Amino acid sequence: MERTLIIIKPDGVQRGLIGRIVGRFEDKGLKVVGCRFRKLDESLLAEHYSAHKERPFYKGLVRFMSESPVLVLALEGVDAIKVCRKMMGATFGRDAEPGTIRGDFGVSRSYNLIHGSDSPEAAEREIGLFFDADEIVEWQPAAHRWVYDAEDLA
Ligand code: UDP
Ligand code: MG
Repeated sequence: MERTLIIIKPDGVQRGLIGRIVGRFEDKGLKVVGCRFRKLDESLLAEHYSAHKERPFYKGLVRFMSESPVLVLALEGVDAIKVCRKMMGATFGRDAEPGTIRGDFGVSRSYNLIHGSDSPEAAEREIGLFFDADEIVEWQPAAHRWVYDAEDLA
């Protein structure tokens, strides 16, 4: 089992896409283990996007991400990081394949609806940044044994 940090960005929230985006992850079999609706401040975003600090798009990215509320999720599943990144699609909506979240819902570059951790190290760091330990909830979905077979979980 792996966990990943997902953010439905301000454009996704403003456009009323929270339910449809979260629904895709639920449909796929991913389990919500953390969920917070909040506005992000610039200091938290500076930590979150520290790897991009020197990039030309950084300032605009922080402005966009702090302008309006976001939905932050921690999702759990087998290979959750890879599965979620595939479901998100390529970074820019115009490049993202149909069938992906970015490909189906957006055409913008920076307004690309969703963030997802890109490695186990990033996921651990990002979940720690956005959630307190007691906000991550361990639970067993009733359908769990019909989502994964024994080999998936081995
Ligand atoms: N971004 C941007 N312009 C760029 C590259 C990235 O506005 O030229 C934004 C975009 O919102 C993206 C975020 O910066 O999601 C982080 O970039 P990254 O390369 O990590 O893309 P991701 O992992 O989100 O696909
Ligand atoms: Mg990234």
